Amino acid sequence: MRVQSVLAMARVRREADVAVRRSEERLRALVSASSTVVYRMSADWHEMLELEGQGLVADAEGPDAAWLARYVHPDDQAQLVAACRRAIAGRSMFELEHRVRRLDGTFGWTLSRAVPLFDADGRIVEWFGAASDITGRKRAESALRDLNETLERRVALESARRAKAEDALRQSQKMEAIGQLSGGIAHDFNNLLGAVGGCFELIARRMADGRSGAERYISAGQDAVRRAATLTQRLLAFSRQQTLDPKPTDANRLIAGMEELIRRTVGTNIAVEVVGTGGLWLTTVDAPQLESSLLNLCINARDAMAPVGGRLTVATDNRWLDERAARERDLAPGQYVAICVTDTGTGMKPEVVARAFDPFFTTKPIGQGTGLGLSMVYGFVRQSGGQVRIYSEEAKGTTVCLYLPRFIGTLEERAAAEAPSAVETGDGETVLVVDDEPALRMLIGDVLEENGYHVLAAADGAAALSLLGSDLRIDLLITDVGLPGGMNGHQVADLARASRPDLKVLYVTGFAEIAVSGHAHIEPGMDVLTKPFEITGLAAKVREILER
Ligand code: ADP
Ligand code: MG
Repeated sequence: MRVQSVLAMARVRREADVAVRRSEERLRALVSASSTVVYRMSADWHEMLELEGQGLVADAEGPDAAWLARYVHPDDQAQLVAACRRAIAGRSMFELEHRVRRLDGTFGWTLSRAVPLFDADGRIVEWFGAASDITGRKRAESALRDLNETLERRVALESARRAKAEDALRQSQKMEAIGQLSGGIAHDFNNLLGAVGGCFELIARRMADGRSGAERYISAGQDAVRRAATLTQRLLAFSRQQTLDPKPTDANRLIAGMEELIRRTVGTNIAVEVVGTGGLWLTTVDAPQLESSLLNLCINARDAMAPVGGRLTVATDNRWLDERAARERDLAPGQYVAICVTDTGTGMKPEVVARAFDPFFTTKPIGQGTGLGLSMVYGFVRQSGGQVRIYSEEAKGTTVCLYLPRFIGTLEERAAAEAPSAVETGDGETVLVVDDEPALRMLIGDVLEENGYHVLAAADGAAALSLLGSDLRIDLLITDVGLPGGMNGHQVADLARASRPDLKVLYVTGFAEIAVSGHAHIEPGMDVLTKPFEITGLAAKVREILER
């Protein structure tokens, strides 16, 4: 019985040994069949023992500084130490992807995991871990990242290229518009210069021959000059640099005053209706320019209703533009006076609406349209602090609305503010003419002397100021705005008025100078005459100013 039991024990032990050996063999087979390094570490990680595997780690004492330096990529060492500490302190699984040095000295990526094994008291006895080679996966990931980056870079490059192409297109469209504009001006001016030159030639020939009949060439030449002046006026309006004289204006009264002119202009097969809102606000605007703009709109309406005719409506209204409505119209929020011209004509295609304000854009046959009407209206209204809008439906008709800023106050208050101070009128009034153009100075001087005025002349600001500083009698200063010698006409006038507050001033200006020098508004006692002007017109203006 005893022998039997001993034998039985021995058999059990033998069987157990066999089972353990088999289990170890199986583990060894499993480990060597896998691509994974399996390792065991002491509780404090100091002793690291490789069990088997592909040799990612050659030998291993533990993650001390020398070990780290030898096997772990410099950029990953700190991370590895931190992960070890976390695992030991938390008694939890260690897990990290990091680079290790292979036996051949190259770096590979490894995913390392280790779990703690505890004794019966819950103390960590050792760690058991596995590290698998994830170099392939990492490589694939980084290739993917590179690919993404390349793609992103390509997309960025492509959109930059596209933006550049769009820029180039915009630039070329701008150049085309400028080309169209200069071509239009050059063409019209050549015609007018041809006319003026021809007239001079024929006048000279008649005078040389001692023949009479030069008058018709003189008047033809003058006519051409007038047309040229109209052209430059329109261009200046378009460039928003014309000389404006904005005054508080009752648009209803202004429209009533031109109703007859409108009727005559559009003809009898168009019914004209004027709808003036009662209690219409005043607007601050250059009245003659507003009239000419409205007439332009009426002529466009007439052309759109030709030849059958139709109905033309000119309506006014008060408009209070809130933030949104103002933004839609590219205006500051506030109060505006709207003047709308509506026709029952052909209407406009959207692409025509889009280009209608372009200078020289016209859909009318050569000789009929200049394409300057709406560009002039646009420039004038924008310069006046307002806006123009086209509302059009094909085959139904068009409404063009002008929005002009409201003037707060009454016409009477304004008139009182502008009341003329008492001036002595009579013969021998003295006019100081300041202009750097000798021909113009001579012409102005001659015509004023013919009209009984005493004339002083100066070619620049300094000469003018020395005359103004003397005690000579000077009733009126006529000055060009752009002057040589570092002082413009406004500065001359301002300095002169400091010592002669009642001095009347008449600016004679070609174009942009008023706008450029920042004097958008003309003070009371100051007037503006726009070049080119007729000499007789100048004499009348001087008389009007001095007798006011
Ligand atoms: P023009 O009258 O000399 O052609 P505008 O600048 O006044 O030049 O107008 C430009 C273009 O806008 C016109 O040629 C026309 O095609 C279009 N247009 C302007 N007003 C109207 C309108 N009331 N109805 C239809 N089309 C219009
Ligand atoms: Mg027109």
